[in-house]
Amino acid sequence: MTSQASATTPRRAKIMATLGPASQQEDVIHQLLAVGVDIVRLNLAHGDHAQHRQTIERVRAVARVLDRHVPVIADLVGPRYRLASLPAPRVLKPGALVIISEGEDSELPLTRAGLVQRLNVGERLLIDNGAVELSIERSDGERAEARVIRGGAIGTGKGINLPETQLAFEISARDRADIAFCVDAGVDLIGASYVGSADDLRLLRQQIASAGADVPVISKIERAAAAEHVAAIVAASDAVMVARGDLGVELPLDEVPPLQKRILDIGRAGGTPVIVATDMLASMIREPRPTRAEVSDVANAVFDGADVLMLSGETAIGRYPVEAVRMMARIILRAEQTDGGRARVAPIAPPSGTSDVPNAVAAAAVRAAELLELRHIVAFTQTGSTAQLVARYRPAIPILAFTPDAAVARRVQLLWGVEPLVVPPIRHEEDVIEQVERDLLHSGRARPGEVVIVLMSAPLGERAPTNLLRVHRLHA
Ligand code: PEP
Repeated sequence: MTSQASATTPRRAKIMATLGPASQQEDVIHQLLAVGVDIVRLNLAHGDHAQHRQTIERVRAVARVLDRHVPVIADLVGPRYRLASLPAPRVLKPGALVIISEGEDSELPLTRAGLVQRLNVGERLLIDNGAVELSIERSDGERAEARVIRGGAIGTGKGINLPETQLAFEISARDRADIAFCVDAGVDLIGASYVGSADDLRLLRQQIASAGADVPVISKIERAAAAEHVAAIVAASDAVMVARGDLGVELPLDEVPPLQKRILDIGRAGGTPVIVATDMLASMIREPRPTRAEVSDVANAVFDGADVLMLSGETAIGRYPVEAVRMMARIILRAEQTDGGRARVAPIAPPSGTSDVPNAVAAAAVRAAELLELRHIVAFTQTGSTAQLVARYRPAIPILAFTPDAAVARRVQLLWGVEPLVVPPIRHEEDVIEQVERDLLHSGRARPGEVVIVLMSAPLGERAPTNLLRVHRLHA
């Protein structure tokens, strides 16, 4: 195989940054996008709609100035229990008994009702990312008694994890209001927190549709139940996130790395983008430099084929949000330049058999580009699917996604190696080729006489699957 990628090849894995108090200001957003953020995330568990709307407007304004297509992702709170208001932090001592009920005698007031009847003897209840651990000793469906196994201080708002408890996926009034907000504010993708199965996603998609839009969904794999159904969840999702924060509470910590690799493999095999999230450069919340282990974690996610790497606390509440992004971009680029620019991502073979035309065409395009030592593959895409197909085969050269739809241009930012370009509406295949000529030559991306590969679905406008591969020499 030739080594087409060079030191000037743009970064292929994308960076997602969670915005929060450390990064909601327009000048910080500008710096974050300028140093490498491709996608922004809002966590709807924090802040209010007015504030999120303002942040979205700022992101859009900065993206316009920088001439970039930046998707906004909003994560729902989801069916998560949290501690409701406690007058003061409380210390739970190991060995003590704690009463959990819906009534006044409850020592653990919760933000949502309905938990007590689901608790069974022997199950664990974890508070504050597992810092405090209780074990249920008695439960009659109305009142449960739990023994403190690992003690510690607990306070208002701390999250509760119940790794062994069967929890139905319910869309709360809060989630419904958040979904309506996402639709109204034009959020590009919705992060589905605490999904446990593909059925949960169907429920969520129905709710999104009834709010009036077809917003794509990112499934956050963060529950033990989700880990059990991971293949079906990935297949039913537009993208998935390895949400290692909660996963590391719900599962034994040592099970998280193999699961991360499994999710990456499943995502790559099916072409679904995978986001690796949480603690990637956690020490940069307080320090200007990451640890060696964090640098390795970021590089290894790239070697394992992640489409997107996410920063959360580092950019949302950290002291060095811009430096964290700069550092992440640098580590990714270096990892991608290892082994002739292909990093260590194993090639995916197209499905055998003759029925899968789009995959055969996409794989052929990548192979032809390698043999011909080309510098660009163009995917003309009206839904994003042609770009997604090509990304699956991890070409060593940039995948330029030409699309007439600005929303699609934003969405394809989640795909490894894909750079979006918005073009005017196009009706005929020959006009796509002319548009490619104009854009590549005018922008200086390609030289006169250079050969490029263009993929599309013909006839245009009929929503046919990807079926056309053109090897085109630009005018001399
Ligand atoms: C996580 O748990 O890793 C995660 C990404 O979730 P949150 O939205 O709580 O950051």
